[in-house]
Amino acid sequence: MKKSIRNLYSGINYFILFISMLVVFISCVKSENLFIDGDIKITEKEFLLTLDKLPDDIRDNILKDKKTFISLLSEVLSLEKADGKENQLFFPADKKNLLNADFEPSDLLPLDNEGFLLNKEGMKIRKTVMTDLKEMISDASEAGLKIVISSAYRSYSYQKNLYNYYIGIYGEEETARFSAPPGASQHQLGTSMDFGSITKDFMDTDEGKWIKENSWKYGFSLSYPEGHENITGYEFEPWHYRYITKPGAALERDFFGGLQYLFIEYLTDNREMLLSKKTN
Ligand SMILES: [Zn+2]
Repeated sequence: MKKSIRNLYSGINYFILFISMLVVFISCVKSENLFIDGDIKITEKEFLLTLDKLPDDIRDNILKDKKTFISLLSEVLSLEKADGKENQLFFPADKKNLLNADFEPSDLLPLDNEGFLLNKEGMKIRKTVMTDLKEMISDASEAGLKIVISSAYRSYSYQKNLYNYYIGIYGEEETARFSAPPGASQHQLGTSMDFGSITKDFMDTDEGKWIKENSWKYGFSLSYPEGHENITGYEFEPWHYRYITKPGAALERDFFGGLQYLFIEYLTDNREMLLSKKTN
């Protein structure tokens, strides 16, 4: 009789122990290392999943400062949302992700009479780029540099004619290395620009060096860096920059090794999930 009471007591003790452990386990699973920053509410597990496709060194770098990363990411998503119906600030615009033939930004502004150095008249850029572009050119000018804008927005049909023109001279294979087929040009976005001579020499000029070093501070990013032709599909273009907003450029520089295609691909792959976790 006494033995069975002892058994009953120890049974109760085990039961209490089991319930306590269950409570601890449930509370752990519930929070699952939930971390909130900016206004993205995401668990550690969900966050790690977004980093799956990235190269190891890039992923490790992001994990070292998750809070800053998430906070910048949240800003980027807000800016994209605020971009209204255009919503193409971070569209890949490459040979796999084509823009429609009728895509034309509705907020294009002429570059003429804005105090820029231009190599031709009639160029346009999206309004959303203008303030930061002016700031960059003006700061460069204060540093004694003369940055010339050589190409800006190009329509689908303009790109089509240009591409066919190049094919006539260089053939299809060679043309594809330096010119975009219609719909695949970042210039159609109205947020990309070519500076200076549009030749490789540009990188050795003071202007080319300054832009390479400083453009990120104004939201600009080098689209086709040296040594990445197999992924970007284009040879090194030291003159071609795309506007990706200031937080976007900081995110790309500090966490994606300055590689625009990695940053844009990350956003494209994870945008929907991240937006569903965004609290405002
Ligand atoms: Zn270009």
